[in-house]
Amino acid sequence: MDNIYDEIIMEHGMNSYNKRKLDKCDFCEKGHNPNCGDDITIEVKLNGDIIEDMAFSGYGCAISQSSTSVMIDVLRGKTIAEAKEIIKTFIEMIKREITDEKELEKLEDAIAFKNVSNMPARVKCALLAWHTMEDLLKKNGK
Ligand code: ZN
Repeated sequence: MDNIYDEIIMEHGMNSYNKRKLDKCDFCEKGHNPNCGDDITIEVKLNGDIIEDMAFSGYGCAISQSSTSVMIDVLRGKTIAEAKEIIKTFIEMIKREITDEKELEKLEDAIAFKNVSNMPARVKCALLAWHTMEDLLKKNGK
């Protein structure tokens, strides 16, 4: 393992510390990827406009699990507006609509998934958590 990006994906794919239940969760949303069988539930706790805490449960392939966990690390502590911007950037990165490295910096560790755009079979796995979070915000009028 000589690639820092692979390390991030591996580390979060195995027994992530973000895989737990929140004591109190304001919103939760399920996401399912029938192509691969990935199934996750994302929990969010807000403090005003700030994502105070997040967690997830569920199962699936290493890419879906690690993508969910990394997303949680990146979005925790952000405002809802910042989170939306980051989610949009991640989705555009995977769809190869953004290639400018500077723009991708806001993704922090989630940039590790950039090469997934070269693996069509894994794209839905990588995007599952991010689309689920997008739905969660939309459904709750955020
Ligand atoms: Zn998958």
